[in-house]
Amino acid sequence: MNKEFVKRAAMFLLMLLPVMAFSQGEGDPNEIAPNYDSWNSLAQNIAFLCGAIGILIALGYYVKLSSTKGSKDKYDFINKYEINTLWVAVIAIIVGGCFFANSAITHLTYVFIGVRIFVTGAMALIVAVIIQNLLKFYYPFYIEKRLKLLRYQPRISPNTGKPMKLLSEEEEDAYLDEGMQAEENVFSVDYDVWKDEETGYIQIEKYAGHLHALQCPECNYQTFKVVREEIVKQPTETEEGEITKHYQCGYCGYKAKKTVILKQQTKVERSAATA
Ligand SMILES: [Zn+2]
Repeated sequence: MNKEFVKRAAMFLLMLLPVMAFSQGEGDPNEIAPNYDSWNSLAQNIAFLCGAIGILIALGYYVKLSSTKGSKDKYDFINKYEINTLWVAVIAIIVGGCFFANSAITHLTYVFIGVRIFVTGAMALIVAVIIQNLLKFYYPFYIEKRLKLLRYQPRISPNTGKPMKLLSEEEEDAYLDEGMQAEENVFSVDYDVWKDEETGYIQIEKYAGHLHALQCPECNYQTFKVVREEIVKQPTETEEGEITKHYQCGYCGYKAKKTVILKQQTKVERSAATA
């Protein structure tokens, strides 16, 4: 709450600066040069170049995504690259914007240069922070929807060309080896098993929990991730073991832990949340 207020107050102050900056310099006797045409055209060219680079990066991403075949590959691609790629594209466009904002200079003194650099930097920072927040905290909702669709979209059997069936947690155990099951218990990994019921063809897909954030029970952002796992008790043949998964929210810092019982082959979940 407090952090939010400070952020907003700082933004408001910084918004006032351009007004101050651009009200200065008019009719100043310390003019550096008679005109700034060469700088203006250079700045404009750099601005367009940066803008073009940003747009190309974003475009390149979507072209690569649409040429990626298979729901699972698309899922991994989006999960791994989408936010970071868009962020790089945004930075390129913001840098371009900085040059563009300074590409129509008619008056300039040395003091004014400093003011312009400062104001441009401050504005760029504000825009960057706003967009970064959008990408980090709001955009994941949109990504999540698409990821869910991709993950549960029926897989097509290469044998029959018909949609396969996604097996339930209980059914899938028969197709996962012990290592996979242990992994599901211990490493926040989920295996999806698709079965072609006609021919018995099996397709197994792995989803890593570390890379994938859940919705935070406290702030509701899609920023709740497993940060640490510890085995409290190793399972033996006669006794069940226990593992604690520690979650933390990347936005509000809310922490929770979940204790999962480790049987030899199957798992039973029981959860306990603490602040
Ligand atoms: Zn949270």
